[in-house]
Amino acid sequence: MNRRMFLRSAAVAGVAAGAISGRNLLKADTKSTIKKPNIVIVYADDLGYGDPSCYGSKFINTPNIDKLAKGGQKFTNGYCAAPTCTPSRYSLLTGESPFRNSRAHILRGDAAMIISTKQATVATVLRSAGYTTGVVGKWHLGLGDGKAPIDWNKKITQTPNDIGFDESYIMAATNDRVPCVYVKDKGVVGLDPKDPILVSYKKNFPGEPTGKDNPELLTKMKHSHGHNCSIVNGIGRIGFMKGGKKALWVDEDMADLFTAKAVDFVTRKSKEDKPFFLFFALHQPHVPRVPNKRFVGTTKLGPRGDVIVEMDWCVGEITKALETLGIAEDTLILFSSDNGPVLDDGYKDDARQKNGKHTASGILKGGKYSHFEGGTCVPFITYWPGTIKPGVSDAVVSQTDYLASLAAMTGATVPAGQAIDSVNIMPALLGESKEGIEAFYQKGTVRCGEWKFIAGSTKRDGTVKHSQLYNLKADPSEKKNVAKANPKVVTKLQAMLKATKAKGQAAVKAKAKRKKTK
Ligand code: CA
Repeated sequence: MNRRMFLRSAAVAGVAAGAISGRNLLKADTKSTIKKPNIVIVYADDLGYGDPSCYGSKFINTPNIDKLAKGGQKFTNGYCAAPTCTPSRYSLLTGESPFRNSRAHILRGDAAMIISTKQATVATVLRSAGYTTGVVGKWHLGLGDGKAPIDWNKKITQTPNDIGFDESYIMAATNDRVPCVYVKDKGVVGLDPKDPILVSYKKNFPGEPTGKDNPELLTKMKHSHGHNCSIVNGIGRIGFMKGGKKALWVDEDMADLFTAKAVDFVTRKSKEDKPFFLFFALHQPHVPRVPNKRFVGTTKLGPRGDVIVEMDWCVGEITKALETLGIAEDTLILFSSDNGPVLDDGYKDDARQKNGKHTASGILKGGKYSHFEGGTCVPFITYWPGTIKPGVSDAVVSQTDYLASLAAMTGATVPAGQAIDSVNIMPALLGESKEGIEAFYQKGTVRCGEWKFIAGSTKRDGTVKHSQLYNLKADPSEKKNVAKANPKVVTKLQAMLKATKAKGQAAVKAKAKRKKTK
């Protein structure tokens, strides 16, 4: 522990003990378990369990992610909350299961923000513990307060800055949909009053080309399904936009830009006498996969493999920056992905054709959109040199638990009735315990110990129709449905699912009651 970090701990312990004098602060610190390292959440987009080399890929080399895994805790049962972007991101930030919010599904690029300004987030909680906070990269949680359609040419009514982030530099939604612009704090970067930005998810603007009608303009990538509306940077997108020529992003430069912003944030904040929290949300390997030319051909897998190498470079740059600044040992890095992998996700980028023997989900079944393990069991690493002992952990851990865990570590209070699905599993995340969460819930799915139950539903990959039970210990690839042979387990897990739903309803009622009595 260096002096700066020591003082941070001391200050908190002092406040907790009501101590004022420096002597008392120092005394209190020796007993305190509160720690306030810098915290960097590095969040990949659609990275599968089998994609990084440290999780077994022989075809994609990811030395920087491997370095985190080798020097930290590598989890084999680490989960995101859902098999798609928005709900997982919602859960990571709020500590609430996404099935409690009916708007937590894949959002349009002009959707209103789905996190209320009254909700606790990792950012608000860490800010209450004295942190300075920032987000860089993909957002996809909506913008604006929803009272009126977003006017992209004005101050946006609700951005990450309204839910706990001191600073933000994000893409408006996600890279396959309009508007293809960056938003810094409260407004679009590069606005030109002479060329206002118009966005519609209903109809095209007269005279504007689309991927559907003007395929000759798709110079960089053609669509395989959807993604045939407005053309930006030679690539068709979802949704229509007009104007804002100076504000449009260039896909090839996105990794460099976001990484530079993230490095800039940690560099500036490292000079302040406060710990920082950075949510570094990478855009790879989500479609459209357009690596910078430095990374083209770095794998034999085509753009999907190449952007994973590019993403690994981003991880390396932020890690290197922390080392150069001399704060690597004061910084906890939490690395994971927002859902499992997908090959063809709407563009003809040869992901399927060039995949060869690579298994993006490793031994797991399914991927993005699937309730099988490949949908939500993702690369999951915690890294804190000097504090986390290197090792591999089989503990069941989930991103939903970041909030309660980080709050517990930093001595922050989670407001009552908030983050109700978040559990403090910090000892597991730090590698001090092999005990994770008792049960991991998704919509219609629960994993408890070695058992995984999937209530009947149909998904885009068409695989789940009837209720299923798997024994993940004996059958990690979910090949044999053993529901019929284990009726008692099915009944127990069904009851657990029902109880979880009730817990959410009780929390909603309690919130309403509090509001009424105020
Ligand atoms: Ca995703």
